[in-house]
Amino acid sequence: MKPIPRALAAIFLVVVFSAFASDQTPTVDWNTVAKIREEGLQRSQVMDITGYIVDVLGARLTNSEDMKRAQAWVRGKMEQIGLDKVVIEPFMDYGVTWDNDYFSLHMLEPDYQPMTGFPLTHTPGTPGKVACPAVVAELQTKADLAKFIGKLKGAAVLATPPLAISQASLAQGIARLTDEDLKKLQENVVPPPPRPTPPPPNPDLLKPEEKIAFFKAEGAVAVLQCEGGRPGVVVGFARPGTKDDKWSREKSLGSLPIVVVTPEHYNRMYRILKRGLAVKIEVEIRNRLGEKVEKAANVLGEIPGTDLKDEVVMIGAHFDSWHASPNASDDAAGCAVALEAVRILKAIGAKPRRTIRVALWGGEEQGIYGSQEYVRKHFGNPKEPKNPTTPDYEKFSAYFNQDYGAGQFRGIYLQGNEHARRLFAAWMEPFRDFGLTAISIQSVGSTDHVAFDAAGLPGFQFIQDRIAGTAGHTNLDFLDTLSAEDLMKNAVVEAAFAYQAAIADERVPRKLLK
Ligand SMILES: [Zn+2]
Repeated sequence: MKPIPRALAAIFLVVVFSAFASDQTPTVDWNTVAKIREEGLQRSQVMDITGYIVDVLGARLTNSEDMKRAQAWVRGKMEQIGLDKVVIEPFMDYGVTWDNDYFSLHMLEPDYQPMTGFPLTHTPGTPGKVACPAVVAELQTKADLAKFIGKLKGAAVLATPPLAISQASLAQGIARLTDEDLKKLQENVVPPPPRPTPPPPNPDLLKPEEKIAFFKAEGAVAVLQCEGGRPGVVVGFARPGTKDDKWSREKSLGSLPIVVVTPEHYNRMYRILKRGLAVKIEVEIRNRLGEKVEKAANVLGEIPGTDLKDEVVMIGAHFDSWHASPNASDDAAGCAVALEAVRILKAIGAKPRRTIRVALWGGEEQGIYGSQEYVRKHFGNPKEPKNPTTPDYEKFSAYFNQDYGAGQFRGIYLQGNEHARRLFAAWMEPFRDFGLTAISIQSVGSTDHVAFDAAGLPGFQFIQDRIAGTAGHTNLDFLDTLSAEDLMKNAVVEAAFAYQAAIADERVPRKLLK
């Protein structure tokens, strides 16, 4: 820039500063925020909603009979709250339903012990109770196969190495984010470099589905395995290959029963077998598979806007979970917070200018499918030529998500969107006493706001204390460790953010489309 005479520079500065200043002081509707706080902190229903989802409905595997029952309840709950346009909206063909009706696993010899575990999804059951020997067969490469030919017939195969159990989570206790942690998050202003591309896979290594096919061909009865490594915690997901075969009935029934076992019990069997002694187990699994391909669905409802009702602010969380527990923290809590947020807004008679829509997604755990397909259908993506943007794309303001456990909101990630900072800073101001203070420019992933962000739409995830819940994806994520106060505060913040976004003079600004 050329040098500017001093007087002119001063005028220039005043003009720039005033333009900047008017743009920099977003209004906060303190009156409505007070009503939101009063309703949400003195007459909260968030734990009643969370409790119903966790205790009564239970696990919510995408496209299971369990999930359909839970989604029907959500539809009723949204109607009871008084939302408009409540809909269970299918988003993609999602194979056949899968539900576990019964599971039991015992060690019979050399000593009796009931064992903890559960089957992977989209695996078959057993033909009634099966008592059989257990055999260790850890396969890595194709060369390993020859060692086990003819040795697995009628056996339950221990297919993974024993797991070292980490006691770190016990020793560390429950830690909230400290002031120092929040400061670091705020000061971490440079985005991390992209991750290096992983080396190509070794062609000699056996894929998980190849191992299962080998065990099946050798006449094994079941596969036992172990993941995770935290004390008492069972971690396990879906049969390998389910995404490729689209949760097919044929492939599911053609697999072996695959059971994940708690590390202590798995390791005990493994050690006895390594002594050269026999282990006999008894296993019984009853799984229910649907007959036909069905669509997975999201559930949505809204509070209609007034003068800007065609413009939309969204809040939400994923309603689906893995199947081994109700997954209270992943993400029953986030769903309850979103439902409670709209309940609060209805209860105080809020009249947002823009429509506030709540979405409880399906298919998040398998690949953020529900929100991705929703964005694709309703908004489009300017980066995908085959998926042009719709008229609603421009009218969209922002999406806010809770999915980093059930702990309290301590701030928000800007997802690289510097333009949203001044709005969020203003909207956070009424919640300093909650400890909601941090704004981080960092982008975060692994949940549904990514679907919006990837299409160039403002999508955000809150910074949360990583307390409460014994972690999602496990058999131990129940109501007992959630903090009512944290969830009450989150619902209040989410309601206020949705409302502020819905009455602001402008939609939440967007970052440049990359
Ligand atoms: Zn989650």
